[in-house]
Amino acid sequence: MDRCLDERDIGCPFCGERITVLIDTSAGSQDYIEDCQVCCRPIRLMIDADGGELDGVRVDCAS
Ligand SMILES: [Zn+2]
Repeated sequence: MDRCLDERDIGCPFCGERITVLIDTSAGSQDYIEDCQVCCRPIRLMIDADGGELDGVRVDCAS
């Protein structure tokens, strides 16, 4: 069983810095909170994935 980890750069909705997130595409579509590596505020990540393929990543403020 392969774990499909996809690395993506996203823009933090709070500070605008680019950060890198690791996405487990084998888990399908997900919606979770990850703290920004720069400003430590919570970013909501909305992952669209299907069959191990990453379709898209959206970010939002999760305050
Ligand atoms: Zn930030």
